[in-house]
This record gives sequence, structure tokens and C-alpha cells, in this order.
Amino acid sequence: MFGRAPKKSDNSRYYDILGVSKDASADELKKAYKKAAIKNHPDKGGDPEKFKELAQAYEVLSDPEKREIYDEYGEDALKDGMGGSGSSHNPFDIFESFFSGASPFGGGSRSSRRQRKGEDVIHPMKVSLEELYNGTSKSISLSRNVICPSCNGKGSKSGATSQCSGCQGSGMKVTIRQLGPGMIQQMQHVCPDCQGSGDMIDEKDRCPQCEGKKVVQDKKVLEVHVERGMQHGQKITFQGQADEAPDTVPGDIVIVLQVKDHAKFKRKGDDLFVEHTLSLVEALCGFKFILTHLDGRQLLVKSSPGEIVKPGQYKCINDEGMPHYQRPFMKGALYIHFAVDFPDSGSIPPEHCKALEAVLPPGPAVELTDMELDECEETTLHDVNFEEEMKRKQQQQLEADDEEEDDSAPRVQCAQQ
Ligand SMILES: [Zn+2]
Ligand SMILES: [Zn+2]
Repeated sequence: MFGRAPKKSDNSRYYDILGVSKDASADELKKAYKKAAIKNHPDKGGDPEKFKELAQAYEVLSDPEKREIYDEYGEDALKDGMGGSGSSHNPFDIFESFFSGASPFGGGSRSSRRQRKGEDVIHPMKVSLEELYNGTSKSISLSRNVICPSCNGKGSKSGATSQCSGCQGSGMKVTIRQLGPGMIQQMQHVCPDCQGSGDMIDEKDRCPQCEGKKVVQDKKVLEVHVERGMQHGQKITFQGQADEAPDTVPGDIVIVLQVKDHAKFKRKGDDLFVEHTLSLVEALCGFKFILTHLDGRQLLVKSSPGEIVKPGQYKCINDEGMPHYQRPFMKGALYIHFAVDFPDSGSIPPEHCKALEAVLPPGPAVELTDMELDECEETTLHDVNFEEEMKRKQQQQLEADDEEEDDSAPRVQCAQQ
């Protein structure tokens, strides 16, 4: 017990309610609860109070953390909030979680009769960074099924339908296959006679507009409002605008934004990034350039007097990033990443070097004494294409390894060397 506070309240009642011992396993608890809950369900004439108690007991004991608290300190500790919310859940929800929403009582219970929901239709829509910065409206036209207006989705002129004889109106057919002695496989598939609708329409009675299909194709134009600051992958949902079908709640049309790459700006969250290359002179002596923003404004970007910019350095302009979604007056930052182009060729005459040395901070080079120089050997620096050289050396190494591996075999490929 590690010297903690003594037990404050009853810690066996929940076990008694479920009729299990104190060392019952999770599985035993589950079985005990299921059995008792079905027996005491109010829909079956059980006592609602008892049903609630069962759910409460099971909720605590099925959670290892809550069970530990309960075992040590009893019911009051849980009510005091030691294990988070004591018992807040609806006893019916706990019960129904066992049967994944399906009613064990053949349709009498709540939430069992749901209308079918149609499928959502997903449309990608390309947008530019400018459009996300400024906001825009785009219309897209698409075709979808709508309930036939002349028969109101009945499929027949008279409004009469009869049950499909192939599937007795269920829309599904079950076939049984014998796989071997004593082994059968049951397969369910959509009824081919009625295409899953469950009913049949007499040929003479068929609605001429939809030919008995109950739905017709319709063109629809959607006006998509792309708001400022929206993100790549963001969804714009048109609820219930997808295909209509009888006895079905239409699904949604979901527009998914796909941002095109921008030649100049990159985006990360609400920040924008721009690469800018300076010449060595600009990096050392100052720069000034015009950056055209995503809304066409011309920003003048310039260094402070006397400032030196290093290669790879970032600078930031506040509030010139992307507008925040739904708070477009707030904006992220605009980062400028500098590269510095050193002169490709050319040299600096020694007399000018003196002038540069005079203004630039001194390098790490120390003055070497004549004595030190006397003891040194002269070297020559060559230009080198470093990457190519390394590649060539790696290739040589591979070939050498190869040779070692099949030493015995004659090597024909290398004969020309
Ligand atoms: Zn059928
Ligand atoms: Zn029709």
C-alpha cells in the first residue's frame, strides 16, 4: 500500500453488481456485463436503475486505471474526480458499444433505423498561390444523378412498384457454395434482377423520362469560394449535393484544394519563403531590389547601410506572409533566403586588396615570420572539380572490389584497358 491514505469507501459493490470476483479478468467482466445488461435492458422490461448501475460498474472496472483507483480507494475516490470524469457516460451508449450499433432486439431499440447515406464525391481543384493569397471564386460544373422529376423517384408512371421476386425486395441475394464436405461458403451480392433497388416496375408502366431508373442525369454548376489563407489539401464541402437516389440521403460534394507550385514563393503554414541571390558586391556593400508580391504590390527590399549579408542567411519581413485563414487581416512572415554569387573569374589587383583589407574585418591569417617560412615547403594549388573527382575514385574502388571477388575468373570486359 506504500503508506497511502487508507481506504475511504466501499470498493466491492461494483464487483457484486456484475456478479464477478475481485480478480476477474477483462474478458470475464465483459461477459458478465453483457449477460446482465441484456437481461436488465429497459427495452426488455428491465429495471432502468439496475441497467444504469451495471453500465456504471462496467465502465469503471473495464478501465484499468479507474479499476486501480477503485480497488484502492473505493467509489468515492472516483466521484472525487481522481480518475477523470467519474461516470458520465450514457448507459445506453456503453451497452450499444457491445453490438456496434446494431440492435440485439430486432429493431425495437433506438438508432437502429438509419436512412442509407449516399457516397461523397471528391473533386480536386487546382489553385494558384496567388488565389489563396487573394481569395477567389471558381465555378465548376459537374453532372450528378437527381431524383427523376416526372415520377418523383418512383420509376413508374402510376407510382406503383412491386417487390422484386429475385430477392424478395431486399436488393441482395445470397448464394451458397459447397467448398467441401461439411464446408459451405455464403456469398452476398447485389440482386441482378433489380440492381439492388428491391423492386420491379412493369415494363408498360415505366416512367419515360428515367426509363424506370428513378434518377436522371443533371448538370450542376457549383460556385466554390476559395477564402484567403486556405491551405493545400483543405476541403470545401457542399453538403448533400452529391448523387441523389431514392431512400437515400445524398452524400457531399467535397472540393479538395491542390496548390500549384509557384515560381518564386514557397509556403510553409502561414509563412512565405523567397530565394534571392546577391552578387558579392551587393552582399558586402548593400543591395536594393523590388519584390512583386502575390497581390501585385511592389515591395522594396533593401539592406541597412554598412550591413554584410552572408551566404545562406535569412532575413524576415513581418506581416508579408500568407493571410491567416478566416482572420485574413493577420498575416505570417515573409522570409528571404540569400545566396551570394562569388565572381566566376577575374582577380583583384594587389593594390586593391590593400583597400579591401583596410575595410573588411581581419581574417584568421596570422603574420608568418621569415623563420617559419624558411622551414616550409612550397606547394601549388590546382583547380579541381571535386564532385567528379570523388565519383571517379568511388568507381575505381568498386572495380577494384569486383576484381578481388572473382579473382579466379578471367576478366574480359576490362581488356581494352
Ligand atoms: Zn431484386
Ligand atoms: Zn422517372
